Amino acid sequence: MKKWIMMLCFALIASIIVPQSPANASTNFKDIGDTHRAKAEITFLVEKGFVNGVSNTHFVPSRQVTRAEAAAMLGRSLGLNGTKQNTGFSDVGAGNFASGYIKEMVKKGVISGYPDGTFKPNTVLKRGEMAILINRAFGYGGNSVSAAATNLMNKGIAQGFPDGTFGTEATIIRADFAVFLARSLNESFRVKPGEVSFSTTMYVNTGSDTLNMRSAPSNSGKVISKLKSGTAVGVGTSSNGWSNIRVNGVVGYVATSYLSTTKPGSVLPSPAPIGGSDLTVILDPGHGKQDSGGIGNGYMEKNVVLNIGLHTKSYFDKTPINVKMTRTSDTFMELRDRAKFASKNNGDIFVSLHTNAFNGTANGQETYYYAKTAATNPNVKQSRALAIYLQNRMMEAWPTLRNRGVNPNNSAGNYAVLRENTVPAALVEMGFIDNSTDIKYIGSEAERKKMGRALFLGTLDYFYNYEGRTDILPYYSTVSGSPAKKLH
Ligand SMILES: [Zn+2]
Repeated sequence: MKKWIMMLCFALIASIIVPQSPANASTNFKDIGDTHRAKAEITFLVEKGFVNGVSNTHFVPSRQVTRAEAAAMLGRSLGLNGTKQNTGFSDVGAGNFASGYIKEMVKKGVISGYPDGTFKPNTVLKRGEMAILINRAFGYGGNSVSAAATNLMNKGIAQGFPDGTFGTEATIIRADFAVFLARSLNESFRVKPGEVSFSTTMYVNTGSDTLNMRSAPSNSGKVISKLKSGTAVGVGTSSNGWSNIRVNGVVGYVATSYLSTTKPGSVLPSPAPIGGSDLTVILDPGHGKQDSGGIGNGYMEKNVVLNIGLHTKSYFDKTPINVKMTRTSDTFMELRDRAKFASKNNGDIFVSLHTNAFNGTANGQETYYYAKTAATNPNVKQSRALAIYLQNRMMEAWPTLRNRGVNPNNSAGNYAVLRENTVPAALVEMGFIDNSTDIKYIGSEAERKKMGRALFLGTLDYFYNYEGRTDILPYYSTVSGSPAKKLH
């Protein structure tokens, strides 16, 4: 019983900084151990609800901060209203996780866009920009980069690099941004005159060799550790070619010439900047409005698949992955327009949501993909893999239903939303709405929510296992999940 349908778009960039049980979140980060140099500052900010982890378990301190993230973290710290809204910037839709803060910060004159009407939300922030932002946000007065940097150094909020520069063009990582923010908000975190704070992050840059960390600033100092290239160190003072550093709570000295301001071999530590994933998932709840879809047991297909679609979206909303839906209410869209919707919105995958109906006797779950190689949709292998991962999670969610499997759909009556799509596409039939067994799941709000989680996980499984997108791995922890094994 398929006749799908519908759309409306909803750009949702989920936040890394969405508020979440701030009281206990800080202690749970597996990547912020007790000796992490920014532990106290991150804990302070998380407990205040100003900054959150990428997930409940990971803060990802070494990732660079994007402009949108910086706006959200600063905006929250200033107590601004973060309700999502239109921003007027062509590249920041009302669905962007930071749209509310960006708009409010622009109003206050703290942040601004570019002359071409863009904001470039996913561009990583530079230290010079960070200095100006903090100056404006907290009223320190520095309007040029150099004046802003000088203010931060004089106040004990930031420090320069061993070469005497502020590192205006260097990017800034989450751990360091947290330190600067905490010091701006709370003077007790600031560096007192004469104090060595080890808060300038640099990286060991020795190629395949290790770097000797010594007990004193000379080659006769005892070697207390051997640091691998790429190790992040907190630099305190530097003189005569030696830098006083701290790593994992241990203090010592290394030759300054082997430290660099950027991590060797990686311009961006992560393929997808936080705050704006390059991935977009298209969800297509079937039918709508005049087209009820299958009917049974007092339920209409158009309503249950919309409900499951919205649940699915809510899971993606906790990650940076974008979601666009062909419909978010009881409206109708032609089948061909649904297929076009995916390419129009730069979708990476398309998932059409349906329930089956027969005569009450058929039951179970199945997933379809278009399999004709000479088709308009050339993504046969991708679509098949997507279908496999979705079906696997659907069965996991509603385990007592019959598994009708993953089926190629290439008959004469094949589905336009699959056939005419231009991205990997699958159509899930989550159960039979007119069957007395299946309706126990389909008719339950709690079970439909589970199905939303399943479709979220199946999609992640596809990105991870088929596309090799390891950057999405942290998103599993938003639902306490883990990747499926390779099934395709
Ligand atoms: Zn249907």
